[in-house]
Amino acid sequence: MEKNRSFAEIIVDINSRRTDRVFHYDLPAGIKERVVVGSRVLVPFGGRKLAGYVVGFGFPESTIKTKDILEIIDEEPVFTPELLELARWMADSYICSTAEALSRILSPRLGVKAPRRVMLFRPALPEDKIREVIDKMPHAPKQIAVIKAAVKSPGLTRKELAASAQTVMKTVDVLVEKGLLEVFTGDSPLLPGGSVEGEAGTDLPRLNPEQEVACKEISGAIGKGKFKAFLLQGVTGSGKTEVYMRAVAAALESGRQAVILVPEISLTPQMIDLFRGRFGGNVAVLHSALAGGERYGEWRRAKEGQAPVVLGTRSAVFAPSSSPGLFVIDEEHEPSYKQDDRLRYHAREIALKRAQQFGAVVVLGSATPSLESQFRSLPGGPYQLLKLPHRIEKRPLPPVRIVDLRQEMREGNRGIFSRSLKDAVCKRMERGEQAILFLNRRGYTTFVVCRECGQVLKCPHCDISLTYHLDGLLRCHYCNYTTTSPKLCPRCGSSYIRHFGVGTQKVEEEARRLFTGARIVRMDSDSTARKGSHEKIVNLFRQGQADILIGTQMIAKGLDLPGVTLVGVINADATLHMPDFRAAERTFQLLTQVAGRTGRGDSAGEVLVQTYCPDHYSIITAASHDCEGFYNHEMPIRRSLGYPPFSFLARLLFTHPEEDVVRKGAGLARNILEKAISGRGDLVDVLGPAPAPLQRIKDQYRWQLVLKGPRRNLLKVAILECLDALEKSRPVFKPAVNVDINPQGMI
Ligand code: ADP
Ligand code: ZN
Ligand code: ZN
Repeated sequence: MEKNRSFAEIIVDINSRRTDRVFHYDLPAGIKERVVVGSRVLVPFGGRKLAGYVVGFGFPESTIKTKDILEIIDEEPVFTPELLELARWMADSYICSTAEALSRILSPRLGVKAPRRVMLFRPALPEDKIREVIDKMPHAPKQIAVIKAAVKSPGLTRKELAASAQTVMKTVDVLVEKGLLEVFTGDSPLLPGGSVEGEAGTDLPRLNPEQEVACKEISGAIGKGKFKAFLLQGVTGSGKTEVYMRAVAAALESGRQAVILVPEISLTPQMIDLFRGRFGGNVAVLHSALAGGERYGEWRRAKEGQAPVVLGTRSAVFAPSSSPGLFVIDEEHEPSYKQDDRLRYHAREIALKRAQQFGAVVVLGSATPSLESQFRSLPGGPYQLLKLPHRIEKRPLPPVRIVDLRQEMREGNRGIFSRSLKDAVCKRMERGEQAILFLNRRGYTTFVVCRECGQVLKCPHCDISLTYHLDGLLRCHYCNYTTTSPKLCPRCGSSYIRHFGVGTQKVEEEARRLFTGARIVRMDSDSTARKGSHEKIVNLFRQGQADILIGTQMIAKGLDLPGVTLVGVINADATLHMPDFRAAERTFQLLTQVAGRTGRGDSAGEVLVQTYCPDHYSIITAASHDCEGFYNHEMPIRRSLGYPPFSFLARLLFTHPEEDVVRKGAGLARNILEKAISGRGDLVDVLGPAPAPLQRIKDQYRWQLVLKGPRRNLLKVAILECLDALEKSRPVFKPAVNVDINPQGMI
């Protein structure tokens, strides 16, 4: 009896590893016929009604009593087998539940309750017939305008159509009654589609020989339809974007789709225009700032193949294209590719995984690639290196001058501006040119620096800058080494050793005092909190309505401002002394990036970098745009300290409103981990527990454990064991735990 009866295998949408397995549900009549793998359904679960993902059909192992699926949530399946496999891989790699990974992958889809179907309009007759009709109705200019608009862009809503003909919606209705327009239903919004061919072939720039080589290699690989990864290392302004676009064209030519990721800050209207200009309506733009409906519309265009080119930020890596042949990650070193809460995935890792699934090509592009990617593109490594060593049209890279703030200090200038920077700004103001003042403040931590000799206090065990805490103590956030803040510099004996931190407001005040009459605008997360104000400030500046732009990280990239001939870096040390093993790398990348901002137009630019550490290799190599030099200096340090790319890191972050609870919880976790790794202690290092650099956020105290070791899998095994043990020791163990595999920062 009931021999043919099979059950739906369902992953229930709860964010818990404990319930991360398949549950069996009955298929009542009426539902049975419509459910497929990929369907989202509503199921009873522990007294609640929850969403569930159908991942297969089969029979439960035991004869437990099964319950009925209650209803189907979406008309169509929401995920493909490929995305399910990706979700399972994510659950395994990042230690989360499959349901959480699926909901992350599908977020543009799930964010929309029911897709809004709207009435859209298009001409009801072929174009020559329409023309005949128009000729016969010369006294109805409004109606003619509406018809013309409908011919030009079929698929507008009633309101859009009326607006584009500058008339009222009633006119649209009249034309429907006359049988000249017809109504159909579709998803809103439909962006007007451009030509399917794009403009390939017409007035494209002629590639220079290096671009030529890069394009040939990439399109060759795309043509083979096998997985391959490239690192495209090209100085700023070397024409990487052109290479990306040729690669996209190659993917389209072979009948595949392309996904292009850019950092949040680079997804400017200019960037979008550039791709739309080349690929027209084939481009969907996906980023989290889009409104739900808009985002869903674009997601759907990608899914259904109307938009074979997806341009977007981090989460666009999950674009539902049916068979992507190319993934591009521009500025691949950017930390913003790492999701920094809950499910902490890295878009680069996802792109590589998906490309393997599809036999696709990955292009990682950057002027300053991450050390991990450089390491992997050494001869014999998994990535192939392609280089664009020159700027387009041999425009020179701007000269970088390093200003020694210790010297300023000795000569009695304790202000924010060195005399050189002051003079340089004044010169620009006299000549009517523009200047950018850049303050690289990241993470809000304070470090202690000697203003006499530049000495910064570091952890003797981890080589991480110690962070100053309000209790006057200095702490290492990896291993919790603690020491008192010295009164005198341990190196030179100076008493000018103190914690450090300057804000943009202070720089603005000082600039207004020094450069009277200059028009100054400031751009940081405070001044640009409102949507669109970032754009406004940039446009103001671009149009020459301001002389000086002061800002943080935000202005380091994504801006192409021809009027700027000076970039002043107020204090390079803020990044250099972040409590992070990547501090030197980030400083090098940031300064190189900033230096790439100037000299893009016709007049040559100049960069001034103020620092208390003028001899630091990050600063010296950035000043001479010397990526290889930086690499050669940094790699041996990483190797000797056992940091990535020679090892893997993982962080366990514990949070709770009571500090005592969180400290004890982290301690308990450490003990469990020690047990878990016993016998493998030489392969896994457990550091901490230590308070996180930001010790308290939103009333939650934060402590962390850092795991380090050459085998990613061993770290994972230890963490899993630890999480399971912690689960069992509730209620003794109270804090929330967040796992971060390959953290990109540990603030
Ligand atoms: P990158 O992305 O490497 O920083 P861009 O893509 O911004 O460099 O290129 C710099 C400029 O050079 C852009 O204005 C681009 O249109 C132009 N460009 C790119 N390739 C060529 C080429 N082969 N010939 C002429 N101009 C080019
Ligand atoms: Zn000193
Ligand atoms: Zn330490």
